[in-house]
Amino acid sequence: MIDSFGREITYLRISLTDLCNLRCKYCMPEQGVCKKAHEDMMTLEEMIKGVKTALSLGIRKFRLTGGEPLLKKNIIDICRKISELEGVENLCITTNGVLLEKYAKDLKEAGVKGVNISLDTLDREKFLYMTGKDELESVKRGIKAALKEGFEKVKINTVLIGGFNDDEAEKLSKLTLQYPLDLRFIELMPMNREANFGKESFVPLDYLAASLKGLQKIDESSLSAEDKGSVAKLYKYEDGLGRVGFISAVSNHFCASCNRIRLTADGKIKPCLHSEREINIKGLDELSMKEAFKEAILNKPIAHGDLSFGNFTKSARSMNCIGG
Ligand code: SAM
Ligand code: SF4
Repeated sequence: MIDSFGREITYLRISLTDLCNLRCKYCMPEQGVCKKAHEDMMTLEEMIKGVKTALSLGIRKFRLTGGEPLLKKNIIDICRKISELEGVENLCITTNGVLLEKYAKDLKEAGVKGVNISLDTLDREKFLYMTGKDELESVKRGIKAALKEGFEKVKINTVLIGGFNDDEAEKLSKLTLQYPLDLRFIELMPMNREANFGKESFVPLDYLAASLKGLQKIDESSLSAEDKGSVAKLYKYEDGLGRVGFISAVSNHFCASCNRIRLTADGKIKPCLHSEREINIKGLDELSMKEAFKEAILNKPIAHGDLSFGNFTKSARSMNCIGG
């Protein structure tokens, strides 16, 4: 379906849970979130009804996220049920990787095509500082397990934070020389009001590609249709097995070509990550659900406002409650 500004909406991100086994400072309150009542969350049946409705409106790509989606006990069942629906072209998952070693094989068998793993540092102490948990080694094992399973795409998402991991940018991007994965740097977004990130933490990514020696911009004409529509600017080392991407969601937002909407674990469609607007689908019959999806798509704002340092998102939810 085309929204009010001519953008075709083809991508739905579904948050399966607000809960997480890490506490990344930029994403989640330190004390975690209050567990919501079971009856307030979407059931598997409601979620599948939501996916079917999205399919009927032309959405073809789905990403499962959270919170941490691998905390859902029925995660494999969820993946299988979605991937088997007619019209689903691409089902991917975004995970912190802590439980990925355990689930990689089953996710692949359940029809998941791509796995994005979040990893901001290769230093154990820094990982512990940023996430609150000493789990770097589990994440590394998770990445290796994903590579072993041969998913179509394995990507690492790295939020670049000035004074925290900018000194590791080269080391992280050089993982693409060693492994067939894409590493994508993402600008820090001011989401969590409680976290004390100073101005220097918000680094525009434009300079970074130029500062990483040996990285070359990939010629647009050689990109697949999906990569051409990607929000990341893509680069590669000459002998790289994977690519390095830069996602400037803050300094140079890509709202004009945004093709996505989001569904929260409690059944609210968010037309824009940074807007407070939410449209409920929980408890609705098929017809009303379709109307709700249409309303969400037609009310997708033209762009999000300024998100620079100190200008926090307008979204009332922290990132773990939206899905990133
Ligand atoms: N728990 C999973 C994970 O960490 O991959 C999935 C959910 S997490 C909210 C999805 C993505 O959002 C992660 O890659 C995370 O780094 C990113 N994220 C969370 N808060 C962010 C922020 N304030 N700015 C930029 N990216 C953020
Ligand atoms: Fe959890 Fe992902 Fe948020 Fe980190 S970024 S706290 S892993 S939901």
